[in-house]
Amino acid sequence: MTRCLGTTISEGQRRVCQHAIYQCNNCGNIGCDQHSFSQCSNQGYVYSRCLVCSAKGQNEYLESNQ
Ligand SMILES: [Zn+2]
Ligand SMILES: [Zn+2]
Repeated sequence: MTRCLGTTISEGQRRVCQHAIYQCNNCGNIGCDQHSFSQCSNQGYVYSRCLVCSAKGQNEYLESNQ
């Protein structure tokens, strides 16, 4: 599983996100899935909905060179 290396900030602390990364089936957007907006610097989804094209439906993103 590919883990998100974006930065999240909660309670003033910066952390590495480490959520799973997904790729949108519709537009190819790659990012992690969060439960509200602007949670992660590498966020691509809110509740499984793509932030670029608003489609639902994505696959877990696997880097081919791992
Ligand atoms: Zn993330
Ligand atoms: Zn999309």
